[in-house]
Amino acid sequence: MQDLLIIGAGPGGYKTALHAAQHGLKVTIFEAGHVGGTCLNVGCIPTKTYVHSASFAEAIERQPQVVEQLRSGVETLLSHPNITLVREHATFVDAHTVQTHSGQRYTADNIIIATGSSTKWLNLGPSQPTAPSRPPRGGANISSGISSETQVPPRGDLEGAISPRERGEGLVVDSTGLLSLKELPRRLCIIGAGVIGMEFASVFRHFGSEVTVVEFLKECLPAIDADIAKRLRKVMEKQGVKFYMGAAVKEIRPLSNSPRGGEDSLSSGEKENIGLAALPPTGGAGRGASVLFEQKGKELSVEADVVLMATGRKPNTEGLNLEALGITLERNGAIPVDEHFEVAPSKSPRGGTCVTAENPEDMPAPPRGGWEGALYAIGDVNGRQMLAHAAEFQGHHVVNRILGIEDHIRFDVMPAAIFTTPEAACVGPAEDQLKAAATPFECHKAFYRANGKALSMGETEGMVKLCCEPGEGRLLSCHAYGAHAADLVQEATAYITLGATLRQLRETVHIHPTLSEILIEVN
Ligand SMILES: Cc1cc2nc3c(=O)[nH]c(=O)nc-3n(C[C@H](O)[C@H](O)[C@H](O)COP(=O)(O)OP(=O)(O)OC[C@H]3O[C@@H](n4cnc5c(N)ncnc54)[C@H](O)[C@@H]3O)c2cc1C
Repeated sequence: MQDLLIIGAGPGGYKTALHAAQHGLKVTIFEAGHVGGTCLNVGCIPTKTYVHSASFAEAIERQPQVVEQLRSGVETLLSHPNITLVREHATFVDAHTVQTHSGQRYTADNIIIATGSSTKWLNLGPSQPTAPSRPPRGGANISSGISSETQVPPRGDLEGAISPRERGEGLVVDSTGLLSLKELPRRLCIIGAGVIGMEFASVFRHFGSEVTVVEFLKECLPAIDADIAKRLRKVMEKQGVKFYMGAAVKEIRPLSNSPRGGEDSLSSGEKENIGLAALPPTGGAGRGASVLFEQKGKELSVEADVVLMATGRKPNTEGLNLEALGITLERNGAIPVDEHFEVAPSKSPRGGTCVTAENPEDMPAPPRGGWEGALYAIGDVNGRQMLAHAAEFQGHHVVNRILGIEDHIRFDVMPAAIFTTPEAACVGPAEDQLKAAATPFECHKAFYRANGKALSMGETEGMVKLCCEPGEGRLLSCHAYGAHAADLVQEATAYITLGATLRQLRETVHIHPTLSEILIEVN
């Protein structure tokens, strides 16, 4: 009998295992794939390696080295004497027992599900698209950027147009498929302008691909301040990324089968301006796909050598046998949890079916001591905040709770960044969201072009928006785009977490010349 079982060794699972082990708990952690999970192997780390590579050739050479180095670091951490790493798929027998594929059973008082998420493929089919509409922008939780990259109406099945073989050949890929390409696509079409779509658009344009983004919503990055999102998109347009906003994708056809052919996303003049004409084609004759979509009542199409599906991520719950635990999944497929990430058991009797609630009202009430022992779900699988650091801190909190250690982690203050060039980042609610909630606030802005360090770096594009309670009161949020925006937002996160005011931020001495000074230069 172990103290703690953890299913999944992503940033949620492995960091939680380490924290628990360092506090004396005996932990067994199960991993069906590579340790490090999505983040280390096919997410944060490979994409940021791409962002910091000068060329595609350099990126594909460096990426496996960086990943391998970090992976072996994680394996070393997991060799802690209190941790047993089981490299197998795990499934539930009951709320205290887990079984691996080889038939071995493990029992513990506490079990943490940290199985992460995977690509949500866009469903396409014959029915008519719904008119695009823009939901209220939400700054507090960027998971709306990663988990539901864009709001796309379900329409049948993509399989009808693009076969799994074509997916496999790299015609229509998800982020993992794009990261495994060995040849730079001359034309890349990205469906979805959420965090993943925007990051790949930025980096592949930088590598020299002709990039077109087709987005259902009217603006990119729904989690970030609308003004900042628009400014960032305009910068990327100047860099040569072509955006079709408010556009509903209807079909993707393999190029050779496309009856209407399609059109290039950029005119020859535009191509010359951004130096694309010289690029060689990626594949052989007839390779590629035509993405058909509707924008403002017009049917349009874009041809591409590779199509990236960046329309969201869904929690990994299949194969866990959650049915045996009587858990009712949320509508987005996430495991429901309470404020301490303890799994909310369904009102149905034990052994009931694992169903998806159609209406949020049908969701079971959060548990109030009803569960025997404790079952937790952290990270992407609970659908709260699909970010690596969210997974890590949620696991930290769970272990503290098991150990009876009080902590004060502010899960309502969750910073997030989008690693485009330039970066964008946010913490706390966007201005629109504060307005919609009728929260009394005042908004202060500053621009990079007025900052000495930004000018000296030649990084004059950017803006910071700080919202606080009236009268330079308590800081509520910070949204920014520009060089190192994530670092500025990180500083604001510290102030917001500690309940500091704008006055206190202004009274904090900042080193000169730094980009941080932008925070005290707000109007
Ligand atoms: C392209 C991309 C870029 C991203 N960039 C960023 C970024 O810059 N910053 C950021 O904060 N987030 C980023 N994310 C999101 C981030 O990767 C996730 O939020 C994070 O990995 C979630 O951690 P996790 O531990 O919940 O799950 P995961 O990292 O998905 O790990 C889950 C692990 O569980 C294993 N597993 C699943 N089921 C079982 C089972 N039954 N038995 C055993 N093992 C199992 C899986 O193999 C996997 O290794 C990015 C994601 C993508 C796709």
